Amino acid sequence: MNPFDQQAPIQGVKHIIAVGSGKGGVGKSTVAANLAVGLKHRGHKVGLLDADIYGPSVPRLFGCLGQRPDVDSQSKIVPLTRFGVKLMSMGFMVDEDMPMVWRGPMLFKAMDQFFRDVAWGELDYLVIDLPPGTGDVALTMAQKVPVDGGVVVCTPQNMALADGKKAISMFAQVKIPVLGVVENMSFMTTPQGERVSLFPKGELDAYLMSRDLAKLAEIPFQPQLALSSEAGVPALESQPESAEAKAFLSLADEVIRRTVKHSS
Ligand code: ADP
Repeated sequence: MNPFDQQAPIQGVKHIIAVGSGKGGVGKSTVAANLAVGLKHRGHKVGLLDADIYGPSVPRLFGCLGQRPDVDSQSKIVPLTRFGVKLMSMGFMVDEDMPMVWRGPMLFKAMDQFFRDVAWGELDYLVIDLPPGTGDVALTMAQKVPVDGGVVVCTPQNMALADGKKAISMFAQVKIPVLGVVENMSFMTTPQGERVSLFPKGELDAYLMSRDLAKLAEIPFQPQLALSSEAGVPALESQPESAEAKAFLSLADEVIRRTVKHSS
């Protein structure tokens, strides 16, 4: 049997977007969180599923560490809502410092619960923050639900390109169309407003062009962004006029444009 034959839509959810990266620490969760908030700013109903079960960061990014979701009368888990986005994370079920060791069947069950036992309600977009790397979670997700598109987060160092390529081929292997790549920590802006690249550029752009893949956004390196995350308020909410907030909004616009194209 084709493993993808087990796929079933999540009732009420129109589009599913998965955010992945080849390795940790490139800003995948920061991008997923602000993409979700950006889609909400564009008037959509949005959910964010933190499928990074090994190191969940949504509770911290949205300022709801230690909170536990309620269960409704149909025994469904009610997602927490912050800044108008519905949130679900393994971090709401277990403590942040508890190491999670998963075996295949447990992982399958946990993912199933995330998709079927959460009262997501009506959503235009469900954004899924995948664990870094190219592992089981992405495969399990792809087998269970129809994902409209994958977004790969990458940093501009030429060294990081190999990881980015792996994430791109992972999506291809599990038959998820890649919407494009987000270049995070792309540049810095000096106090004089000058744009300075942090790393020599070139290979990523050349690679994307050779594969006919789009760069969806360039997000600046901005210490304030990390501070917003630590404070539990996504940058798009805390600094809506900042360059990084504008970059996240244009990312949301690109995702909307390309998702509609993919599903038609
Ligand atoms: P990942 O999900 O890929 O592991 P995170 O989103 O957790 O990465 O980001 C890793 C660290 O880098 C966090 O401290 C985060 O606040 C910081 N960070 C992410 N993007 C940026 C950026 N554009 N500018 C400054 N700091 C950033």
